[in-house]
Amino acid sequence: MSSLIKLEDITKSYQLGESTYTALKGINLEIQRNEMTAIVGVSGSGKSTLMNIVGFLDRCTSGRYLFAGDDTSHLNDDQLATIRNKNIGFVFQSFFLLPRSSALQNVMLPLFYRGIDQADAKEKALSMLDKVGVAHLADHRPNQLSGGQQQRVAIARALVGDPEVILADEPTGALDSATGHEVMTLFTNLNRNEGRTIVIITHDKEVSRQCKRVVSIKDGKIE
Ligand code: ADP
Ligand code: MG
Repeated sequence: MSSLIKLEDITKSYQLGESTYTALKGINLEIQRNEMTAIVGVSGSGKSTLMNIVGFLDRCTSGRYLFAGDDTSHLNDDQLATIRNKNIGFVFQSFFLLPRSSALQNVMLPLFYRGIDQADAKEKALSMLDKVGVAHLADHRPNQLSGGQQQRVAIARALVGDPEVILADEPTGALDSATGHEVMTLFTNLNRNEGRTIVIITHDKEVSRQCKRVVSIKDGKIE
């Protein structure tokens, strides 16, 4: 079996006027199905740049990215979007929930993009909210929820399309440490009980301690 994610000598450079800044300097990384991996590094080390490439939100400058054995390096933007929508569930530090929509509507949204009918979508979304422990808050809007509850809704939204991998960029960064620990326990259980492949990006050693595998990144290189 090939790795789910395989990065081969990936670089990423940003053009800043006349000068070029290289944020990733030859990353080699393999992540297997059912793994739970933390990617740790200080601010500015290249973590979000790496996550954006892994999640098909951005493309590398050079190198090869194999996803489930397929080389994705030469795909166009539409093809990358298709892979992304099908395979990647994102969780962000600041939740990114739609403020005027209920928790339930937020979780249903990715299913609309897939053309799943309303009744089906509602049932799936409710079962995801139940899985993350906030089904009783389905009718609440984000501003009626605590940070931890909002992140649970965001995790339900990431899970609802049954993606191959969940990518979480500083998912506990906006939470107090006890709530952050609860959210990490939720990820750990999703990995352990359902075999979910999860990649957690963090600068927090306390968070990475809850992951089986820890990959350190420093100045755009894996240590
Ligand atoms: P981290 O998530 O580890 O804090 P980032 O991946 O966001 O780090 O950034 C890595 C480096 O790349 C930083 O020096 C940052 O300033 C630079 N960088 C990130 N995104 C851009 C961009 N769009 N344009 C220019 N430089 C960027
Ligand atoms: Mg970052």
